[in-house]
Amino acid sequence: VTLTEFVIGGARRYGDATALVDGVTGESLTYAELRDSVYSAAAGLAALGLGPGDVVALMSHNQPRFAVALHAAIAAGAAVTPVNPVFTPAEVVKQLTAAKAKVLIVAEEAEAKGREAAAAAGIEHVFTLGSLPAGGEPPAQDLDPAATVAVLPFSSGTTGVPKGVRLTHRNLVANLAQTRVGWKIGRDDVQAAVLPFFHIYGFTIILNSGLLAGAKVVTLPRFEPRGYLAALARYRVTRAYFAPPMVLTLATAPEVEDYDLSSLRFALCGAAPLDVEVTERAEKRLGCRIRQGYGMTEASPGTHQVFDDEFATVPPGSVGRLSPNTEARLVEPGTDTDVGPGETGELLIRGPQVMAGYLNNPEATAATVTDGWLHTGDLVRADDDGVFWIVDRLKELIKYKGYQVAPAELESVLLTHPGVRDAAVVGVPHAEGGEAPKAFVVAGKPLDGEELMAYVAERVAPYKKVREIEFIDAIPKSPTGKILRRMLKR
Ligand code: ATP
Ligand code: MG
Repeated sequence: VTLTEFVIGGARRYGDATALVDGVTGESLTYAELRDSVYSAAAGLAALGLGPGDVVALMSHNQPRFAVALHAAIAAGAAVTPVNPVFTPAEVVKQLTAAKAKVLIVAEEAEAKGREAAAAAGIEHVFTLGSLPAGGEPPAQDLDPAATVAVLPFSSGTTGVPKGVRLTHRNLVANLAQTRVGWKIGRDDVQAAVLPFFHIYGFTIILNSGLLAGAKVVTLPRFEPRGYLAALARYRVTRAYFAPPMVLTLATAPEVEDYDLSSLRFALCGAAPLDVEVTERAEKRLGCRIRQGYGMTEASPGTHQVFDDEFATVPPGSVGRLSPNTEARLVEPGTDTDVGPGETGELLIRGPQVMAGYLNNPEATAATVTDGWLHTGDLVRADDDGVFWIVDRLKELIKYKGYQVAPAELESVLLTHPGVRDAAVVGVPHAEGGEAPKAFVVAGKPLDGEELMAYVAERVAPYKKVREIEFIDAIPKSPTGKILRRMLKR
């Protein structure tokens, strides 16, 4: 089955139920309308000669018509590369060129930029979301789901240049099927979709899982507390999907008190480490448990999840269990040796959701996937009961003398200080240690750097001490809430 057949196939049954609502304008699409628009636009795109082997770039913030364009292109047989609409024209050109896109579909708001980039990349066909070509019968889909790329998302670029990831129909269908075993999204669910659909978390876990289940997906173009909370209350949202900065904001934002959030049943957080104390503060205010999932673009993305029926029993701070039909190993980094029970190691993943490979980069593919095992680059431990904890990224560990210090641990300690609003830790050159932790701190009230360093020193082993503090206005983060440590180092 193709991604679109799998996701939109149920739409016939869901009929007049609302599939998508624009949380800003209130404009909505029923499942019947979604299905009709998808197949009509698919026919229109196919009539242009678009088909298997071709790539369509889709550049838009979250809105209902994103789903129409996405599935229309896929139903025409093409692969879709989703583009961040706030990219600069040069960044857009780079992605269009790398993906060899033939068509660009762009949100009205970004049309001028899109046309400029498309011209520079030699793309002939540009459509806005509101002017997709329409046609009669869509082409029959005769492709091999295991061998055909459906989506070419880019990784977040947290550790370097974003990598294009080749995800097949089978990868994505498998991941939707795997994650729905634990997350029992149903027709009476309402999903708040503010994390971007151009990133794999928003794409698979929020948008397509919701459509597959016949739920209502409420789209928002950006996170801003009042608008977000108002949408949760107005649409009686049952499932919220967070990244850590959203949780951090909701843990303290006074606006939370102004809205009736009693419809919330499950709140999920992923994409970066989430502090336990921040989680608990936010849970109290939202009146709903927040539990984590874990994944990466290369795994479509889900590999670990706290299942619905374990929200009350699996502790915050963990990322839950392996998704069904997924295998994990923990190895000594850079080796093929498994670590002992309870020990921390690099997480390797094997399963049907693991990518076909990177785009235009066979060397990186060969280094990242060996014998079907995906090397995640994350340091992880598991308990006897099969529950996993992410320690941090291997690449971001700070090496003080011979010791390794995880920035996420120090950030958690800093966040427990009542005067600290946000914090990020990076390694900086250090005379004795080689490298030592430096903290960038956003203060909520006037703070003394020496006192804050002493506060951390009381709570961690001596080699982990923060040795330098700089106060800044905001921590630079990616659209999915990852701390951009490269920028801080610079
Ligand atoms: P790049 O690979 O381009 O440097 P990236 O790894 O941030 O960027 P993504 O594929 O978007 O790109 O993110 C996957 C990574 O996000 C994981 O490898 C992991 O480091 C992090 N991550 C995801 N979920 C969690 C979580 N619950 N806790 C901690 N880290 C997480
Ligand atoms: Mg990565």
